[in-house]
Parts: sequence; structure tokens; C-alpha cells
Amino acid sequence: MYYNDNTFIYLNGNIVKAAEAKIDLYSETLHYGYGVFEGIRSYKMANAETKIFKGIEHFNRLKNSAHALNLPYEWNSEELIAGTYEVLKLNNLQDAYIRPLVYAPANMSFSVNNESFIVIQTWQMQPFLGEKLLNVMTSSFERPNANAFKIQAKATGHYVNSILASQEAKAKGFDEALLKDMEGYVAEAPGANVFIEKKGKLVTPQLGNILPGITRATVFEICDELNIPVEEKQITLAELQEADSAFFCGTAAEIIGIQSLDNIPFKKHWADSIGSIIQKEYKDLVTGKKKKEKFEPIN
Ligand code: PMP
Repeated sequence: MYYNDNTFIYLNGNIVKAAEAKIDLYSETLHYGYGVFEGIRSYKMANAETKIFKGIEHFNRLKNSAHALNLPYEWNSEELIAGTYEVLKLNNLQDAYIRPLVYAPANMSFSVNNESFIVIQTWQMQPFLGEKLLNVMTSSFERPNANAFKIQAKATGHYVNSILASQEAKAKGFDEALLKDMEGYVAEAPGANVFIEKKGKLVTPQLGNILPGITRATVFEICDELNIPVEEKQITLAELQEADSAFFCGTAAEIIGIQSLDNIPFKKHWADSIGSIIQKEYKDLVTGKKKKEKFEPIN
């Protein structure tokens, strides 16, 4: 599904066959979840070119995540982006998911390493997820305690929490989970940020206990351009339940509307929500078909 005998990857400055590459089974990343990664998308643009969306932002976040975890990081973002384009071309991919992973050498001692390794893998992704709406459940899992982890980093170990929450939601018949933070405020989904709409305005959890999403930042840019009011603040579960509409956003999820929370539908139809305006705009942005319309706030 992810690769075959003809798939190439970028590995520590070289382009090699995925099926022939090796990883050290004594790697600290494998044993302790001590590594950092990214999730990036490339799109086939309106002019048929392949474009990595916000590549610099993603590779810079990778570097910041590595620094947050004391992982040595010597690469520069431009070089890695060039390597990624090369891999995409060799793998004949345009609408792709791109997964850089910085991993540690063999080390069971918890001491700081003097080297790290990087792999960049790519695989086919559907062009745009589109209009499917999600039935979401409030998770029994909380997001990791921000005093226990560098929660702003995209670290491999954090994703055990995401996996548990997502599996719980799916086992109960929902599409996805919504997690609260350790203080009980709305935080994020296992792999996406959340926005709610209330009285013509968007609200999203402030930074601190969530991953600072690049799509979240893009939603702010779209709001700025379209004059859509948006605020960052702590959101209670009651505020989420009383919202007019809500959506998740993330590189893989893109902008995806939430139909119901714990089986209770949101008041507004997705088609009438601010989220659906953002969704269209995001799609046009990533595929290079940007068109501008101003938004009239509703009071
Ligand atoms: N929160 C979590 C926990 C995530 O894994 C992701 C996906 N990277 C996001 C939010 C959204 O981040 P981004 O928009 O940068 O993909």
C-alpha cells in the first residue's frame, strides 16, 4: 500500500529504494518513541505542476521539533524540499502524502545522541478529501500533559495517545475522536486541530496544549483575507456542544466538517457554515485555483 519494489525514498542525503533500505533495530526511536516527524502534502496544481504545500513551514517545524527533543538536526529545509521533489518525481507522484521522519541511533541509555538520521517517504493520496462529514465522539483520553511532553513538537511517542483515542472512537462506531486537554478544555483531534463557529465567528483553542497546526495557521490567513472574525481561546465542552458548526483541519484531513458530536448534530447545515467557505478557499489555495470573495459577518 505504501511502497513496492520500485519505490524510492530519501535517506540521509541519498535517494535509495525503499525495499532495500535498512533501519537499526536498536534505534532509540523504535524502542521509546523518541523521534520527530512531519506530515506534508503535494498537489497536482491547476497548471499540472506538482507543488508541495507549505514545505518550508513543515520542514522548519521538523527542525523545531528535533530541537525541542534534543535530537541533533543538521539538515536545511531547502535541501530537504529539493530531495522531496526528486523522490516525488521518481515515484511518479503528484497528489501525495510526504512523511519525513528524524530517528535516533542505537541508544538505550537516555543520554543525548551525537547523530540523527532522516528518511523521507512519499505515497499516493487522494486529491482532496472533500465534503464527507464526520460523526465525532468526545474521547475518554486526554491529550498528553503539556508539562510531561514538548507538546508543540510533532514527536513519534505522542501518537500512542492519538492511536488509542482514534481506535476507541472507531470501535464505538464514530468516525473520529475529539480530545480535551488535561484541564478539561477542548484540545484537538488525534491528527487535526478543531475550529467551532458561533454567531458568525470562528473560535479555536489557543496554543499551549495542542500541536500548532500549519493548516490551523492557514485557516487564520484565509480568515484574514476574507474578513472572517476568528479568535483563539480556551473552549469548554459546553461551548463546543452549543456551537453552530465545527470542523477539523490538518494536512491530511484538510478542512473537514463535523456533522455531530456524541450523536448530537450541529445546528447549521455544513453547506451554510463558515467552515464550508474555508473548505472551498483551502482547496483553491492548495491547488493554485485561488478565487477571492469577501465574507459578510452575520451577527
Ligand atoms: N494536531 C495533531 C495532533 C496532528 O497530528 C496534526 C497533524 N499534523 C494536526 C493537529 C494538524 O497539523 P497540520 O495542520 O500541521 O497538519
